[in-house]
Amino acid sequence: MVEGYTAGEVPDYQMTSLLMAIFIQGMSYEETLALTRAMAESGKTYSFPECVDKHSTGGVGDKVSLTALPIVAACGGPVAKLSGRGLGATGGTIDKLESIPGFSCNLSEEQFRNQVEEIGLAIVEAGDLAPADKEIYALRDTTGTVDSLPLIGSSIVSKKAATGAGHLLYDVKRGSGAFMKTTEEARELADLLVRLSEDLGIDATALITDMDNPLGRAIGNALEVRESVHLLKNEPVPEDLVSEVNHVATRLLELKGIPNPEHAVENALSSGAAYEKFRAFVRAQGGDADALEHLPISTEVTEVKSPRAGYVARFGAAAIGSAALALGAGRKKKGDRIVPDSGVEVLVKPGDPLEKDQPIARLYGEREAEPAGRLVLEALEISDEPVEPPPTILDSL
Ligand code: URA
Repeated sequence: MVEGYTAGEVPDYQMTSLLMAIFIQGMSYEETLALTRAMAESGKTYSFPECVDKHSTGGVGDKVSLTALPIVAACGGPVAKLSGRGLGATGGTIDKLESIPGFSCNLSEEQFRNQVEEIGLAIVEAGDLAPADKEIYALRDTTGTVDSLPLIGSSIVSKKAATGAGHLLYDVKRGSGAFMKTTEEARELADLLVRLSEDLGIDATALITDMDNPLGRAIGNALEVRESVHLLKNEPVPEDLVSEVNHVATRLLELKGIPNPEHAVENALSSGAAYEKFRAFVRAQGGDADALEHLPISTEVTEVKSPRAGYVARFGAAAIGSAALALGAGRKKKGDRIVPDSGVEVLVKPGDPLEKDQPIARLYGEREAEPAGRLVLEALEISDEPVEPPPTILDSL
């Protein structure tokens, strides 16, 4: 079926019947593994057994790839990564990187390979890798068959297997701004991703992380690159972001067998090596590294204020993601054009005390700013009692 569909010999209606049957009936583990393997082998495959890669199931303000991977590369862990574009309220690493003037993720196999060797960090768009997944995912999107554990698992792992990195960390997000709403669902997906990867010869592990609140302050493409630059320059950024990035980088270095990983991460940040690595990576992919310090951000700025005093209980990721989407930071449907300099900056995090009329967020961009402001206000849950900030890392396999 996979071969026939990729070759254009199996029509959409037959593939849809199979997808709907899987959606309703589920699949055994062996069937899921077979589908994953077939999709991984449906096009070109690379092999980078010495490299690490990470995959996030997607969240709001998730800039962990932009930050943890240069750190890992600066510590001597080579990174070969495939990334995607954003859809809906969830951003994509390719869109974020393309907010840097000149940057391109469109690398030939030779460019990709040379860059991994020379810089130790390269990020590409899927291109010819796992073409079956691209076709099938687009069909799932239009036939209501996205939300199926075996289909999600085989889709994610087929792309990772085709990229061929030897060591892989899955960051499975759970919460209002994620695919998986509960920790149990996230754990089930994490187990499946790790098991499929290991059976395809990849040394894999997984984390379950919180996505009830956006990660860090910035949501939107250029805004997120700007916040990533602050982190990589060891400048102050919110604690949830620092702790998740350090955790992911440390776990990737552990997977790669690099000794004393926590110390290596700290050192890469304090010495400036991580930021230098990021600049070298940006230059290698055609980007203007000097523009990183002053990326264009929309000058159309609206401030949203707190309706009352109290403590921030939650600043809901789903609604903030929708606000960023309304401002143009994301795509409502595949193929929509995004506005790279738009988005939301949250000025308060869970646990923070609040005064009435205190600014809680800045909206960047003129597209649908009013509904975006309403969404941000809806996202804010205020408690009268002090609130303990929630943990960022919920579980690890
Ligand atoms: N991400 C993917 O790559 N595939 C899915 O099916 C869901 C999320």
